[in-house]
Amino acid sequence: MAAETEYEPVIGLEIHVQLKTRTKMFCGCELSFGDPPNTHTCPRCLGLPGTLPVINAQAVHYGIMIGLALGSQIAARSQFHRKNYFYPDLPKGYQISQYDVPLCSGGRLGEVRIHRVHLEEDAAKLVHAGSSGRIHGAERSAVDFNRGGTPLAEIVTEPDLRSAEAAREWLTLLRTTLRAIGVSDVNMEEGSLRCDANVSLRPVGSSELGTKTELKNMNSFRFLAQGIRAEVERQTELLRSGRPVQQETLHFDPASGSLTPLRSKEEAHDYRYFPEPDLVPLEATAEMIDAARAQLPELPSARAERFAGALGLPAERARELAFRPELGDFFEVALAADAGAEPAALANWMQTLVERLGDGADPASSLVTPQAFASLVAMVSEKAISRDAGREVIELLVAEGGDPGTIVEREGLGAISADDDSLSAVVAAALAADPAAAEQVRSGNMKAMGPLVGYVMRETKGRADGGEINRLIREQLGL
Ligand code: ADP
Ligand code: MG
Ligand code: ZN
Repeated sequence: MAAETEYEPVIGLEIHVQLKTRTKMFCGCELSFGDPPNTHTCPRCLGLPGTLPVINAQAVHYGIMIGLALGSQIAARSQFHRKNYFYPDLPKGYQISQYDVPLCSGGRLGEVRIHRVHLEEDAAKLVHAGSSGRIHGAERSAVDFNRGGTPLAEIVTEPDLRSAEAAREWLTLLRTTLRAIGVSDVNMEEGSLRCDANVSLRPVGSSELGTKTELKNMNSFRFLAQGIRAEVERQTELLRSGRPVQQETLHFDPASGSLTPLRSKEEAHDYRYFPEPDLVPLEATAEMIDAARAQLPELPSARAERFAGALGLPAERARELAFRPELGDFFEVALAADAGAEPAALANWMQTLVERLGDGADPASSLVTPQAFASLVAMVSEKAISRDAGREVIELLVAEGGDPGTIVEREGLGAISADDDSLSAVVAAALAADPAAAEQVRSGNMKAMGPLVGYVMRETKGRADGGEINRLIREQLGL
């Protein structure tokens, strides 16, 4: 039987980000989230005739900040276009967007190249009222225009991702970066971060692109990965059975795992793009670009590089800390406390702390101060307490706060040191209790160390250092 062709997934993302400006993209209505429907509207964002749009300067500023954070070229002169289509959530009959000259072009974030970033306005929100909204016996949908006109940045990547997991990880990096620069809440569940995934397959080794499908608006990181995985599977089956992939837009239903076609792919000419006649071209001056650059903080990817380079953390650990700024901040304050803990040890113990605090918790709002945390790590490094005792102290710090030194004293968790006779006595007891294991170790089977060390750990309630126990066992066996 001929070997089946191996296919490689090719994925590009289109991300919509709601910008955290005070007012909408082209009018003075304030942005709202969760306010009563249709309380943030005006003739302009309702698309009434005779009104004129005005570009929101703050949105442009944020757009430039995004472009700079992604290493894009900022266009000195870009253009807004009308993208025409009919839908009840679009009262003007067109969306003001950017077309051939976007505000930002090119760039890169991590391993993924950026194609472009442009500004546009969000549509209103359709609320499907269901049976409770019956009018004359029929189910109705209502429109909430509060969202209509919210500033959006659309970020389009090059097709550089190769797996569902990579897509999810990269989107996490993008979210972290956008959050760090403060331009958006970037919350998928609330819709301030929305992601479409373009997916195709090609034979491994080929450099041509296959026919792609587009998965619309997946509203969580988990669903994004699930949807891509399902689509890769569907396309693999098609290609393996010799059928072509149709270029179309699909909806992924996470509950059933099914992918249903929304519409066949529209082309740019379907939208009858033309330059927005009511807006002059957008000129991004050197002053505007400098002002945006001046507001950029250290970006998460740069922070990860600094943690790995200057502090010598393993790359993976450096990213874990840098991509969750609240963890990176806590880590850096603990490091600056100068308690004598090494960066690598601090970073390792951060993992234990995060586990104890629970998923997504910010250590800064826990009872554990960075100073207490740093001195705990120093105590373990100096072997004043064992690692097991260290974990116990972290648990107590999380529960009640306070000073690790005091807790160690109170709980009697101080390490039993090697020159303490009582530790020698416990080791002797371990050898006597399990002569078979002792004999095996003596004859060179080091696996038999396990039960002996375990015995001592139990007897000392984890207060003895593993390395010391090992050393004493060897010593007492004359090795
Ligand atoms: P469209 O005109 O259909 O919107 P674009 O060329 O503008 O397509 O690309 C939209 C997105 O799809 C980009 O993120 C791009 O990287 C991605 N993309 C383009 N072609 C492919 C392909 N063959 N496979 C996967 N992704 C693709
Ligand atoms: Mg597209
Ligand atoms: Zn308005």
